[in-house]
Amino acid sequence: MSIVAAVMPAPRMPVELREFAEPALEPGSVLLRTQFSEVCGTDVHVWHGRLAGVPYPIIPGHVSVGAAAKVHGDVRAVDGTRVAEGDTLAFFDVHRTCGRCRACTVTRTPTRCDARRVYGITDSASEGLFGGWSQAIYLEPGVTIARLPRSVPPETYISGGCGLITAVHAIERAGIDLGDTVLVQGTGAVGLSAIALAKLAGASQVIAFGAPADRLALASAMGADVAVDIQRTTAADRAAAVADATAGLGVDVAIEAAGSARAVEEALPLVRDGGRYVIAGHYTDAGESTINVHQHINRKHLDIRGCWGSEVAHFVRAIRVLERHHDAIPWRRIGARTYPLSAVNEALADAEAMRLPKALVQPN
Ligand SMILES: [Zn+2]
Ligand SMILES: [Zn+2]
Repeated sequence: MSIVAAVMPAPRMPVELREFAEPALEPGSVLLRTQFSEVCGTDVHVWHGRLAGVPYPIIPGHVSVGAAAKVHGDVRAVDGTRVAEGDTLAFFDVHRTCGRCRACTVTRTPTRCDARRVYGITDSASEGLFGGWSQAIYLEPGVTIARLPRSVPPETYISGGCGLITAVHAIERAGIDLGDTVLVQGTGAVGLSAIALAKLAGASQVIAFGAPADRLALASAMGADVAVDIQRTTAADRAAAVADATAGLGVDVAIEAAGSARAVEEALPLVRDGGRYVIAGHYTDAGESTINVHQHINRKHLDIRGCWGSEVAHFVRAIRVLERHHDAIPWRRIGARTYPLSAVNEALADAEAMRLPKALVQPN
């Protein structure tokens, strides 16, 4: 049996369909029949050649969901239950985190482990089916697997996708207290999920900065109390909107999910003294930001936190949040359009042009 996958041969080259032989399964591995994968901002960066360490050719698609077609041996999900053929499974895209290096053990920053690999990004197509834009995905031994709750449609899980998992991490870094006011910069997949999660975490007021109009409508549906169109306002207008919403105090917490160096410059004066700023949107180098350290960090007593990648806990928490809230919060609307494998170049072009918050890929 051959398996069709979409391969990105090199940066800026069209993605092409190739046939792969079905892999021989090692003990402890699973062959997943892909139901959905996604096209996210990272895939666009990878296609532009702006991410270091990508071993082209690759099969893109880092977060995916599917059904276990074949299971070799005793494979356990993260809750300890045995995985069986036919189970609907999600898996954590980060694998081979070593658990022994300095990052893993001393500084406890496992997302900075050098051995860490990511499906669809740092695994080469020459090694096998390590990406979601494929009819099947090889879940090698040791990959963290979770059974998708029956109540959560796979389309909903993937519409949240990597943006939701990243947002869970950003919210953890944000340390939101009950009643906090929160600014979210960016209404892409990460920002939209961060809005909903900030509300669930106890924020009394969430202000979203983004564009275009349909994303702002979705931001409001996700829970934003104030949604400001960055294409129709000046920085002064937006500062006034924050002052209005916070009685002139500034927000307690701001979360950057915009990927813009200017966004960082804009946010610092909008956070209250002693507040927190989490930067989650600069997954590639967006250039220099110019800030006045005295005014905006030192005197302000500001806490600025980076947020790189995600850990198993964020993946598991994302699924728990979806299980409880997928009906009330419209994650499904983020995955605005579904493309077959034969149309992945169109999906990539639509994601690049930001015509939709997220494109879904349905390989079978
Ligand atoms: Zn390590
Ligand atoms: Zn992603």
